[in-house]
Amino acid sequence: MDFQRELKSLNLSLTPVRLAVLEGLMHKPHSEAALLFEIVQEKIQTTSIQAVYNNLNTLVERGLVREIKPKGMPSIYEIRKDDNHHHLVCRGCGNIQDTDCHDVAPCLAPSNAQGFRVDETEIIFWGLCPKCKTS
Ligand SMILES: [Zn+2]
Ligand SMILES: [Zn+2]
Repeated sequence: MDFQRELKSLNLSLTPVRLAVLEGLMHKPHSEAALLFEIVQEKIQTTSIQAVYNNLNTLVERGLVREIKPKGMPSIYEIRKDDNHHHLVCRGCGNIQDTDCHDVAPCLAPSNAQGFRVDETEIIFWGLCPKCKTS
């Protein structure tokens, strides 16, 4: 993904921290802010956790990054792909995996859409990952 072009098209300035956040998410999707901060800090020692949060919030607001909020866990972030994929979350160790949308996004229709035109479905499947299942 060409982040420079993406940011420009959204009229967002290309700051070193912003770029480092996006690159961090490319390499480690489903990262929480604290982990991203560590990744960014390796490149830019002067950064702060607040700067990482501010950038994440802006990127989520502008639709470049997707925020997933599993109950009882810190938010995790990934580059938005608009594929409406869902997540499997392990109750044991917090392991998070992608799982594809069943069909064409949005893949699950409400039993009564109340006249809404639904364009996104957000599902978290909870359970135990293979490792935690056997222990
Ligand atoms: Zn697990
Ligand atoms: Zn994902």
